[in-house]
Amino acid sequence: MKIIKSIFDLNKEIKDFKNIGFVPTMGGIHLGHASLIKASQKKKRMTIVSIFVNPKQFNNANDYKKYPRNIKNDIISLKKLNVDYLFVPKTKDIYKFKAKKFVLKKKDKILCAKFRKDHFEGVLNVMNRLMSIIKSKDLFMGEKDFQQLFLIRRFLSKKFNVRINSCPTIRTTNKIALSTRNKLLNKKSLKKASQIAIFLNKIKFKSKLHSSRSNINLSDLKKELEKKFDIKIDYLEFRDEKNLKLNNFKNKFRLFAAYHINKIRLIDNF
Ligand code: AMP
Repeated sequence: MKIIKSIFDLNKEIKDFKNIGFVPTMGGIHLGHASLIKASQKKKRMTIVSIFVNPKQFNNANDYKKYPRNIKNDIISLKKLNVDYLFVPKTKDIYKFKAKKFVLKKKDKILCAKFRKDHFEGVLNVMNRLMSIIKSKDLFMGEKDFQQLFLIRRFLSKKFNVRINSCPTIRTTNKIALSTRNKLLNKKSLKKASQIAIFLNKIKFKSKLHSSRSNINLSDLKKELEKKFDIKIDYLEFRDEKNLKLNNFKNKFRLFAAYHINKIRLIDNF
């Protein structure tokens, strides 16, 4: 695996490659990231992983400061996964050139966009920059961050003529969605996160049974969960998979949740 830190060196190295598979990450490599890398390798792509903790997508300075970073371990994991290139750019290099600014419309200010001001503007900004550097044919992203996937597909896939390969959420055996942020949870919070995931999965299962749909009152369930687990829930909503509209159960739908457990914000969907 070649580790590249400058945009110039990366350009030199990859300019002739036509089959790049790009896996953007913020590091803290786990099996969720590994699944994206394997999906790229399965397609026989020359796989580039980036690690960049993007300051512009954090709406809270403390959250950015506390975000788990461990580049040494990440390099070991990525070498084991036979990644071709690891790109670790510096913040000043990523933001030194001019690039389009993205503004979300009012109708997009749902789910995380409603609760994390400017978060997705920051995500789209950095992805626009990374993709203009890497110019891959294939991008690999996780359904764990479904709204992110949705917005990148809408705003960037045409511009870069890139195929966005969405990969299912990888979970621990006790059903917690793998996430770098899980490293910030203590044992008690991890146990709760597992119970919450199992609970939400059951609600999704029930919602698929025709007869019980109308009996599911998410606002009551939200209150119940908040009380039972001592958490604060930002949202708990069924939404259409295609357009993220509030679900009328006619099309394929998912249950989306974001909650704060011991001051750590987690998101998931089922
Ligand atoms: P992150 O490092 O958290 O920014 O995530 C980098 C990429 O990995 C994103 O496309 C995420 O959606 C994806 N990802 C994160 N966690 C998981 C997971 N548990 N399963 C599958 N993909 C994931």
